[in-house]
Amino acid sequence: MEDCLFCRIVAGEIPADVVHVTEGTVAFRDVAPQAPVHVLVVPRAHHANAAELAAGDPAVMSELVSTAAAVAAAEGHEDYRLVLNTGAGAGQSVFHTHLHVLAGRPLSWPPG
Ligand code: C5P
Repeated sequence: MEDCLFCRIVAGEIPADVVHVTEGTVAFRDVAPQAPVHVLVVPRAHHANAAELAAGDPAVMSELVSTAAAVAAAEGHEDYRLVLNTGAGAGQSVFHTHLHVLAGRPLSWPPG
């Protein structure tokens, strides 16, 4: 999708601070970090949200989670939070699946 921001980051058309790549995913630092470590893991192919990715390509959905674990470990964190906002009412602002990886500070519950 040519007008999708994260498709354009995956394609290298828009710069991003990429920290990890796999066959099916790209992980890059969030431009507005909400924790000392805040990385987004996205599938290379366009899927609007996590459920659509899980239905369309479950192997890459799994790869998203394993990539997130690798990113957290590489940043030196055993404890981290994974977030998949789904729908505008839940805070999703980019409609290309992205798994937030947050770490490096105490993370309270419930989230806001
Ligand atoms: O879950 P949500 O859709 O709100 O997350 C989108 C995330 O993408 C935000 O955390 C925002 O800071 C990030 N972003 C980014 N680079 C951009 C635009 C948005 O990292 N160019």
